[in-house]
Amino acid sequence: MAVENFANRFVCDLVAYEPGKPIDETARELGLRPEDIIKLASNENPLGPSPKAKEAMRLALEDAHIYPDGGGYRLRTAIAEKFGLGRENVILGNGSNEIIELLCHSFLHPQAELIAAEHAFVVYKLMATLFGAKYVKVADPGFVHDLDAMADAITPNTRLVFIANPNNPTGTMVGQEALDRFMDRLPEHAIAVFDEAYYEFLDDAPDTLKYVREGRNACVLRTCSKIHGLAALRVGYGLAPKGLADILQKARQPFNVNAIAQAGALAALTDDSHMEKTKAVNTEGLAFYHQAFRDRGLEFVPSVANFVLVKVGDGDGLFRKMLQRGIILRAMSSYMLPEWVRISVGTMEQNRRCMEVMDEVLSGAGI
Ligand SMILES: *Cc1c(COP(=O)(O)O)cnc(C)c1O
Repeated sequence: MAVENFANRFVCDLVAYEPGKPIDETARELGLRPEDIIKLASNENPLGPSPKAKEAMRLALEDAHIYPDGGGYRLRTAIAEKFGLGRENVILGNGSNEIIELLCHSFLHPQAELIAAEHAFVVYKLMATLFGAKYVKVADPGFVHDLDAMADAITPNTRLVFIANPNNPTGTMVGQEALDRFMDRLPEHAIAVFDEAYYEFLDDAPDTLKYVREGRNACVLRTCSKIHGLAALRVGYGLAPKGLADILQKARQPFNVNAIAQAGALAALTDDSHMEKTKAVNTEGLAFYHQAFRDRGLEFVPSVANFVLVKVGDGDGLFRKMLQRGIILRAMSSYMLPEWVRISVGTMEQNRRCMEVMDEVLSGAGI
């Protein structure tokens, strides 16, 4: 009997996550050197990892023969201190993506529902599908989460409501008032998950940790993949009231975050200088793209994160043509936005080059 006939239907039906195209693969295909490729496809830190993290990881290599601290004692303590919470409120993940999965493991089943915005981060849908649960998509007019509509969509079967703030790929955020109003309407049988992967880039960040401190059904997700520049390590963390954090701890693998990653993350979290530099580069780059799109009359979604969504006509076509010229963007057809591409903010040199090539391609001079 073919394995497809007895594998879980909802796993077979899954459309796998499509990551940004890797630099090495692109270089090989084009016969270019990896150094000549500019990747603006996965919202990575263009300045690289925190130098303090690199040093800490080099040291940690010496003990690579020892299993990691499965309890993540030092890293969880540092995170708890940073946010004025207890260690019992902190859960570590192999990327914050793993914590999304742990939430689904703990609360989803074929009768349960997960609510997210129409153009929300695609991993929520993927995970809901993986657990056979119902994925409930709520319209997001103007590409902004409509939290009132999301609260309206809650049923007795709702277990998780994902609020990506700011959201990827839209780069938009919702403010404190809307969040407070949403939390006032959240019933006891559902959990609000605030995915804050880009939180550190915000000037005017809302406070969702207060819901955790108040012991509400809330889980805040943060990551070392974005501002800290440690995407390759796969470290993220969740902040939740003890009862919820305890459940998530049970759902994880014993050594889900490796020791090198724990050491790197620990150093990166307190490297304020690297975070400030990164934020400054991003602020300049964002303003550059917003202005560049305005100048060219291209529709775009003003962003508060480290990427911008812009309407270019044929998103897949632009992606392919820019790829030929060594620039990797992200086409948005998998988000049902075939006319759009998402561009991650790079260094100013990379941003200028990106617009130069985009101009060539859009004017028809491209290959
Ligand atoms: C990048 C991103 C993450 C972080 O993923 P990691 O697994 O921590 O690398 C989480 N949520 C959103 C919305 C993201 O864009």
